[in-house]
Amino acid sequence: MRENTPQDSCAAPENPSVLRVDKARQTILDQVVALQNQQILPLRDALCRILAEDIISPSDVPPHANSAMDGYAMAHVDLAAEAATLRCIGSAFAGQPFTGQINRGECIRIMTGAIMPATCDTVVMQEQAEASGDNIRFQGQHQFGQNVRLAGEDIQLGQSVLSKGRRINAADLGLLASLGIGELRVMRKLRVAFFSTGDELKSIGEALSPGDIYDSNRYTLFAMLEQAGVDVLDMGVVKDDPDAIRSALQSAADNADVVITSGGVSVGDADYIKPLLAELGQMNFWKIAMKPGRPLTFGYLQKTPFFGLPGNPVSVMVTFYQFVLPALQKMSGATINTALLLPAIAAAPIRKRPGRFEFQRGVMESTTEGQLSVRMTGEQGSGILSSMSQANCFILLDEDCDGIAAGDIVTIQPFAGLM
Ligand code: AMP
Ligand code: MG
Repeated sequence: MRENTPQDSCAAPENPSVLRVDKARQTILDQVVALQNQQILPLRDALCRILAEDIISPSDVPPHANSAMDGYAMAHVDLAAEAATLRCIGSAFAGQPFTGQINRGECIRIMTGAIMPATCDTVVMQEQAEASGDNIRFQGQHQFGQNVRLAGEDIQLGQSVLSKGRRINAADLGLLASLGIGELRVMRKLRVAFFSTGDELKSIGEALSPGDIYDSNRYTLFAMLEQAGVDVLDMGVVKDDPDAIRSALQSAADNADVVITSGGVSVGDADYIKPLLAELGQMNFWKIAMKPGRPLTFGYLQKTPFFGLPGNPVSVMVTFYQFVLPALQKMSGATINTALLLPAIAAAPIRKRPGRFEFQRGVMESTTEGQLSVRMTGEQGSGILSSMSQANCFILLDEDCDGIAAGDIVTIQPFAGLM
């Protein structure tokens, strides 16, 4: 694949209404603004929510130096002699410190997590100790400070722990709990309304007449929105009827922070919906130099951002991940994920003509030599949703790319890095 070219070397200079993917994404991002409302939640409820404040550590973690092993604690100077023998004068358990005095020539039995007595600096694991009554003989060489976890070695008092805009994950919950933090200030959840358009669409449970299909976009959009951590307002299917679409758009805009539709923006329907959208707000009708997902509408229904995604099931998913998700992240007050891109070896040739940015569906896997290789899922039509289901990554072929030979390095975007 050739190098990415600068933005102004537009893919189709002869057609100025064709927009590059990166330009469209940036235009959308520049226009949407972050919500300001915040709320305070108990720690558990904050999982997957967006942090609204920087977290500064109120303490050291661990709060005290403690043993990393079950064994014996002593002052390192007492181990100077070969096979030193020390007298064991007591025990320390996690949560039950040893409170007595330890003199030269003495040690204590210590368990993992127990506080290190002030006069001890080293722990010898019990496998290297031989007890005969209270006398313990230590084999081998021992380093000063070994098997001791220092106070603050995980987190120090005053240290910045998590930054505003972070999406709270499982490790974060534990980390915050280790600091004794029980509540978090998070951003309010974004509310996203969506509906499908099309006279041919039936909902699950309805009988299909000739020419009908089940509405699958409703389910992929639901799932992608749920995974994006927003509140979902599913408005179902709306017929290709201007009055029905008008009232659905109005109700969606009144009840949500963002409105998404699928279908009806391609050439056949576009003329039909265009005047309606123009009547209700300010809209951009873009032809994007991409495959799949060429037609895209973005604008405002009064003050509510609106995305009119294409109808084809794969196009819906590709345009959602490339344009909608970054915008939702920004609006949620989240730090926008930089796309995780990896180099992989193409297992077979890939045909492509220059002009459009292609998002092919790929399966990445490790070769026996430990390299990352990628192959296409097969048919790449924008209606072939099974290609998304089988894939675990996009293969990114930029506008200028004119085909890939087997063994070439291509850029892939793992689905796992999309959220
Ligand atoms: P459109 O953009 O409305 O012309 O739709 C393009 C193609 O996508 C047509 O074949 C539609 O039948 C199909 N399509 C549109 N919406 C959906 C949907 N919600 N679920 C499944 N297929 C759809
Ligand atoms: Mg349609």
